[in-house]
Amino acid sequence: MKREGIIFIISAPSGAGKTTLCKEVIDIFRNLRHSVSYTTRQARPGEVHGRDYFFVSPDEFQRMTAAGEFAEWAEVHGNLYGTAVKTLEEYRKSGVDVILDIDCQGAHQLKERYQGGVFIFILPPSFKELRRRLDNRNSDSVEVIERRIECAAAEIKESRWYDYIIVNDVFSKAVEELKSVLIAERCRTRRVLDAVAEMFDIT
Ligand code: 5GP
Repeated sequence: MKREGIIFIISAPSGAGKTTLCKEVIDIFRNLRHSVSYTTRQARPGEVHGRDYFFVSPDEFQRMTAAGEFAEWAEVHGNLYGTAVKTLEEYRKSGVDVILDIDCQGAHQLKERYQGGVFIFILPPSFKELRRRLDNRNSDSVEVIERRIECAAAEIKESRWYDYIIVNDVFSKAVEELKSVLIAERCRTRRVLDAVAEMFDIT
């Protein structure tokens, strides 16, 4: 069925398990991709330019911002992150659904811009569990972990204006819930009405 690609915007405090959840559903669903963001942060071990992020210099990021190349951008934990307009438009026009793993500031900017966007917030089951997950990751320094926990309380308040909230306590259950949201949104009348009219020749 021909239709525009859907933009799924997913936010969560760092450590809620958002990246793993997104990877899981992208592996399951055909016609669903991850939008690769631009960032000025350093690549972590194992991260690949063009797959995980486009790692750019602050100067290049600034140039792109000034040229209006970002649909949204924000400073998160001291680094700049942005989603290119070009990436979103290509997916939307070609009918491919896309997941954006972005922070609340960026999500706010897209709420204005993409009326058809679907906003999903992933919560950890508790602050205690959030700290445990961040400690276990071993990828960030103690200072970075502390900064992320401080941010989490403010970010969690933002969940109020999202369309869906998923609590990632039991991973398999969270995957099922996320899959259900994606499937239901794909069936929304307003998204498929044009295709249905064409299929059955109705006006
Ligand atoms: P990390 O550095 O751990 O990969 O990501 C840090 C935070 O930046 C996460 O909350 C992630 O969702 C957010 N982020 C990643 N890409 C973007 C983006 O393009 N725009 C915005 N606003 N946030 C992003």
